[in-house]
This record gives sequence, structure tokens and C-alpha cells, in this order.
Amino acid sequence: MQHDKIITEAESKNDSLRPKISEFPLPQLGGRTEQVFFGLPQTAEFAQNSTLDALYLHIPFCTSKCHYCDFFSLAGHLDQADAFLDAMGRELELQVSHFGRVAPETIFIGGGTPTLLPPVALARLMAQINSAIKFDRLTEFTVEANPNTFDAQRAKILRAGGVNRISFGAQSFSATELAVLQRDHHPESVPVAMNIARHAGIDNLNLDLIFGIPGQSLADWDQNLTRAIELESTHLSCYGLMYEPNTAMTARMKRGEFTPAADELEIAMLQHTRDRLGAAGFGRYEISNYARAGKACKHNINYWKARNHLAIGPSAAGYHSGFRWKNVQSLTRYIDALNTGSPVVPITEIERLTGLARWGELAILELRLNEGIVLQEFQQRTGVDALAILHALLPRYSALGLWEVRNSSLALTEAGISVSDTIFADVLEAFAQAARGN
Ligand code: SF4
Repeated sequence: MQHDKIITEAESKNDSLRPKISEFPLPQLGGRTEQVFFGLPQTAEFAQNSTLDALYLHIPFCTSKCHYCDFFSLAGHLDQADAFLDAMGRELELQVSHFGRVAPETIFIGGGTPTLLPPVALARLMAQINSAIKFDRLTEFTVEANPNTFDAQRAKILRAGGVNRISFGAQSFSATELAVLQRDHHPESVPVAMNIARHAGIDNLNLDLIFGIPGQSLADWDQNLTRAIELESTHLSCYGLMYEPNTAMTARMKRGEFTPAADELEIAMLQHTRDRLGAAGFGRYEISNYARAGKACKHNINYWKARNHLAIGPSAAGYHSGFRWKNVQSLTRYIDALNTGSPVVPITEIERLTGLARWGELAILELRLNEGIVLQEFQQRTGVDALAILHALLPRYSALGLWEVRNSSLALTEAGISVSDTIFADVLEAFAQAARGN
């Protein structure tokens, strides 16, 4: 089943960018001809002080590699933390000199495991952010943490730096399931870490959970949900396990070491999640995300509304006015590109979405949200009547009960969520056809 992909909260880790080399001149990294990067596009849309709603920073260090993980993360490289922070500070300076001293609504530090940084390094990162960014509009500042790398000293540093939300990679409350995933924490480290955060004054807490783990029954998944509810987090991200290429989990599956969860079981888990969390007071606001009232993740909503966001760090992906780009996915190359006399933002992939292609992507992002495509708002922003573009799909999917127009929005139903990937592909094709004038 392809209903979703494991992504921890910050989706800017996504790897969907494709290079469009012909559109932009290729600056060269000072003195090194073998290493070529794009800088930030020099276009009118990238004007100084243009609105940027979100900032993402990627910290790539981890203690070990979880077997399902296809994020850019490295075990055993923490000795490069200082050089990495030098480079990240320079990238922040370059971006600020390009865009001005931006004032995002949301900041998200993800990885990797940001809280693996030693306290001194974490304090330095907070200082770098505080000197580069204006906090005037900031309402949400999240840091991802692994439960076993979170302590009172780090919590205090984060709180002093303005952090008001922690996203913990809990994944499961079963030691057996964590072992299947090769996570390196114990289930009981989660409540300990949550208490530390609360004690430091950070009480907006997310837990990431994974369902569809090999060997996990519906009752096992229910126990995970029960434990998460007991711990009184404000937000839960529940993703089905995906078998990404080049992960240890996929290799083990191919070797026949276990049988993946059946599609029917995953669909039952998805539906049970909605019912169980709904009964406990969590509203589903996106396919995989649930929150108590007022606690939906603003940073991810900025992504799902395709609002402008900067992204700093290796593999980080930014978006601005139809441009999207991604930094080099290599710690060494990232550090080398920035720690020189002529530093450059080490962008390796850049693409410009225009016209209906851009708005088709916005449509499928908004369909992820419970509120769906708010039709009037969509038209005001894009000049496009979404229902007119989707006129051929509308009656078919409506008759199948996969989506519905409600409160002037087009939104997926529960049945539609189960086949959302198919719907998204069809929606993109409808926008592409309209762009071709068919
Ligand atoms: S802690 Fe997160 S980023 Fe690090 S290896 Fe595990 S899943 Fe990947």
C-alpha cells in the first residue's frame, strides 16, 4: 500500500526535486573545478525582505542508522560538529544577505538528531539562529529529538533559544517493535524525555509513531496509541512503515527475514488511528497528523500550503515563489562549499514550477489536509478554478465516495485517504492536461 511515506514532521527532507540545469548559470566553488553548485537564483522573485514563512535547519548526525531511514543522516561523524556549525553559520549569513534578515512564523530544526549535538554546540546553534533571524512573527519553534539524547541541560538551552515545541521520535512503545526497526532507544525513555521538556517549560510535545511494523497486530498498534494518549502529548504523527530503496529494512525484507504488514491490516490501522485518537480528543488535520485543539503543527501547514520557506543544511530543500531547490546531500561537500574564502549556498538541484504545474502541486498538498482545497482561497491565490480543472474527475470520485465538496472545500473522505496516492496522481494529470489545453 502506498498511502503514505514515513516522514518525520519536517517534510523539507523530501527528495522530490529534479535538476533543471539549463535554466540557471552555474557558479563555481572558489578554486575547485570538480565541485560545482548553483547559488540561490538571482531573480526578481527573490527580492530582499520578501515574505518567508518558515525556516528549516537540517542537523545530519545520528547515533546509529535506523533500518527504515532514508533521510540524510550519518552515524559516527559527530567529531565534525564544529566544522559543520561553521558551515551552517555561513549558509545562514549567505541566505540572510540574499533575502534580508527574515522573520519566519515557524522554525523547525530536524535531522538527523539535533539533540545529539553536545550542549556547547547546541547553544552555539541557538545563538547563530537568534542573530540571523528576526523573531517578531515567530509563533512556533520546533526541535526534533530522540528520547535518549534529550536531557535537562539541552532542554534548558533550547528553551532559552526560543524553542517552544519538541517533536520526539518515539515510533513505538514496544521494545520488540523498536528492535525490529533498529531504533536505539528504550520505550520508557519517552516519558522521561517528555517530563524533562515540560520541566524546562516546553509543553507543546509531538510524538512520531510508526504502524505496520512487521509482526505488529492491530491490538499491538492500539496499545501504542493508548500509551501515547496516556502521555498527554499535544500532537501525534502516525505514519505507515515504508520500504524505501537502499535501506536496511528493505534489504532484510528482500532476504525474507520478515513479511511486511498486509495492505488490509495497514488500512485497518489507519482507520483505527482516526477513531481511537478522535475519541481521545485529537483532531485529524492531515492524513497522518493529529492534534489537540489549537496544536496543529504550523510549520508543516506552511509546507502543505506551499508557503515560502528557507532550508539550511545538507540535503535541506527550500521553496520560494514556485522555485524549489535542494542543498548537496553530503556532509563533507557541504562543509567544503561553505568553509572557504568564497562560500556558496551548495545547491545541487533546482527547479522552477510555473503556471498550472505549480498549482497542481498546491492542489495535492492541500488535499492532504482535512480541510482540503478551500476553493475560493485557492482561486484567489492562483487565479484557477480547481473544480473546473477537475471537472472530469469530480463525478467519478464523488460517486465512489473518495472525495466530497463540503463547506466550499474539496476534501478526501476516509475511503479517499486510503487511495490518496492514486488520487494525487490523477489530480496532477488533470492540471497537466489543462496546461496542455486538452
Ligand atoms: S534517528 Fe531519525 S534520522 Fe536518525 S537514523 Fe533514525 S530515523 Fe533516521
